[in-house]
Amino acid sequence: MKQEVSFGNGRYDRYHIDTQHVPDIVSWPTRFTVKVGKIGLARELISEIFHHGLKKKEVITSRPCLYGVFSGPVGGFSPRPEHCVGCLRCTTEYPDFVSVSHNPERKKLGDSFFTSNYIDAISYEVEHGMIPVKGAGYRGKFGGEGWDGMWTDMSEIVRPTRDGIHGREYISTDVDIGFRPNFLKFDPEGRPVGPTPRVISIPLPMFIDAPPASVSTELFFKISAEAAREVQSLAVIPLGAVLKYNLEGEHTIPLVKAGEEEGLELLSSTPLMIEIDGWDEQLFQKISSLFPETLVCLRTVFKSPPELLDYHKHGIHVFHFLADYDGWDQEGNFVLDAIREAHKAFVEAGVRQEVTLLGSGGMIAAEHIPKAIICGLDAIGLDTPVLVSLQAEFLGECADRKTSQFNLPTNLTLEWGVQRLMNLMASWRDQLLEISGAMGLREIRRMRGEVGRAMFMLELEQEAFAGIEGYDIN
Ligand code: SF4
Repeated sequence: MKQEVSFGNGRYDRYHIDTQHVPDIVSWPTRFTVKVGKIGLARELISEIFHHGLKKKEVITSRPCLYGVFSGPVGGFSPRPEHCVGCLRCTTEYPDFVSVSHNPERKKLGDSFFTSNYIDAISYEVEHGMIPVKGAGYRGKFGGEGWDGMWTDMSEIVRPTRDGIHGREYISTDVDIGFRPNFLKFDPEGRPVGPTPRVISIPLPMFIDAPPASVSTELFFKISAEAAREVQSLAVIPLGAVLKYNLEGEHTIPLVKAGEEEGLELLSSTPLMIEIDGWDEQLFQKISSLFPETLVCLRTVFKSPPELLDYHKHGIHVFHFLADYDGWDQEGNFVLDAIREAHKAFVEAGVRQEVTLLGSGGMIAAEHIPKAIICGLDAIGLDTPVLVSLQAEFLGECADRKTSQFNLPTNLTLEWGVQRLMNLMASWRDQLLEISGAMGLREIRRMRGEVGRAMFMLELEQEAFAGIEGYDIN
């Protein structure tokens, strides 16, 4: 969606996603349980009424919570833990009769990778379309496995603008998907000869990936397609569903498997891009002959550098790499390292500008988007975060793409689902703007592969401790 901005006599359109408050439709367990001792509370209330009188009854009964936990009809005698943000003010002021603790039922949401902490963040982002603010400082670990082993280098001193990232100056989150030759060649008349650029531009480095089989319903596909249209991005949808539910459009990327060539002929318009599910020469040739202007993207697990360069030689310029939902690839590498490896393969072959690298799997928080881009991706296909936004239930551990099972809410609606996904992308884009501003980058395209602006815990540890007795590289 474009937002018209006036500046002096000029005017320009600024990319903007409309957010709205969209409450949950499934009642998830609250984050915290709040227990209040009734005798202690009664004593406290009597003492407050004695001091302040009954005129301020509503204020007195709601105290000390600013978030409304004690503001129900009978105040703290029946606390409302769904409003609790865990600020601990009540336990600090009244340690004798109030206690707040994490709700063990909430911890059961998600699985061992998509933990309830990540779910909490997404839950806030999709409900409000805003950036979650924790406020009280970070008290967790500063390093760890996976994405937690990568830190971004940010400094206020390099902020690009005193106007703020939402002010007059603009940080572009546009990305290009497609092919740009390293050189353009022209004939003596000045006409281009040989390969010319073919790209699709989307205004944010995120798109919606195809869902797992257990949630591949008409409603889910319609939500994906409509949300992609609203935010001017893309949704990957299996060809069968595109045809069956009439989802063709410039924001839909049909996903085609070998053996589905005939279905391609039923498309009534030329797709901007088609994803092929695994390399198949015959399918690739069929698409190239039916839709010569369409970009062909290879959907594949991470491959070795020689294999990737081989696909490039065959004419593949867009790759969509898949890790499992927990971020690990089939070789036992975390997606962060797998992306760096793939990016490096094309850089060293001198063809990185000619290819676009997309990726899905293991990117489940706003911070993972810039980290994945720094490692070398151009854009990220959202998978399990979309399911969490729609309050899907994880049925057991959901790492394996083929066998993972999810349940969508039975009361899911198109309008609710679309706005939740719009809120997710708006919130994650805002967080991307924050990190870009802090890194001094005015556009996301410049963030790609910018590993000089990141630090990797293992590398730093090795630099500092290698050779010292007791340090174990593994
Ligand atoms: S922890 Fe904070 S938000 Fe929760 S009940 Fe206590 S005062 Fe209210």
